[in-house]
Amino acid sequence: MKLLAAAALLAALVPAAPSGPSLGARNGRLDDCAHPEARLRTGAHGRERNDLTPAQAASVEQRLNRILAGLDLGTTYRADGSKNGAGLRRATQISIPVYFHVIHDGARGNVSTGEVLRQISTLNASYGGRNGGANTGVSFRLKAVSRSNNAAWFSDPERYEGTFKPRLHVGGKGTLNLYSAYIGGDLLGWSTFPWKYRSDPKMDGVTIHYASMPGGSIDHFNKGFSATHEVGHWLGLYHTFQDGCSAQGDRVSDTPAERDPTNGCPSGKDTCTSPGYDPVHNYMDYSYDTCMTSFTAGQGARIHTVWRAYRA
Ligand SMILES: [Zn+2]
Repeated sequence: MKLLAAAALLAALVPAAPSGPSLGARNGRLDDCAHPEARLRTGAHGRERNDLTPAQAASVEQRLNRILAGLDLGTTYRADGSKNGAGLRRATQISIPVYFHVIHDGARGNVSTGEVLRQISTLNASYGGRNGGANTGVSFRLKAVSRSNNAAWFSDPERYEGTFKPRLHVGGKGTLNLYSAYIGGDLLGWSTFPWKYRSDPKMDGVTIHYASMPGGSIDHFNKGFSATHEVGHWLGLYHTFQDGCSAQGDRVSDTPAERDPTNGCPSGKDTCTSPGYDPVHNYMDYSYDTCMTSFTAGQGARIHTVWRAYRA
């Protein structure tokens, strides 16, 4: 643990490259990682790279703004007449079918259907605001569980996802495919963004460490919020520390900017001069599961806008 803590300190002191393959130079695991939205355990994370170029990221935001502008015409979805898009959340509920793919090696990682259902319940509690924060108006319903007994897939899902995802993936752009496996190293999970679906639909989905599920064996990260966090990316949310203290941040106005990912569960962390303490309890930070409680209303509104643009 001390080595990991030292790595985190080093990562905090060394400015992160904005993008590109050099990012993982301090961390061999990251060098191999093709997943910019991987969640990393405390003490192991440097910065994740955002694999969108600034121009591509701007294009995404422009598309979302066009959606919001259309909605502001009042033609559809406006339930309460509000001007800020928050009415979207109240106007409609997003109910997401989930196909859960258990990848295991014999008994290792062969999580029970009961454990899968507890993970789905955790997602519903998180997105329903039942642990705190906003009700995002998003819910999840388990459609089916598949089981693949494959030692190679189980022990190195990063390497083999190009093999197993095309075989296992079910449904279209509004269907969540959730894979559990032994991710190992410092990773807790990873996800694809909605705007990647069109170019590679079979790779769409979320992968989590099976031991991060509720009641799992990973200290501090076993309440099932790795799935909550990764599904947030799948729904179009960025990290709360996206772009650090810059004005645009995570493109959500009610999450105060923060410079760095959070380790553990500090109180009073305040890394940017802009108003508000760092949102250390937000699911889209890197805090311990035991520290995570909430999404904001702004994140819920963004999810609904993204959904309409990319997953409806
Ligand atoms: Zn993440």
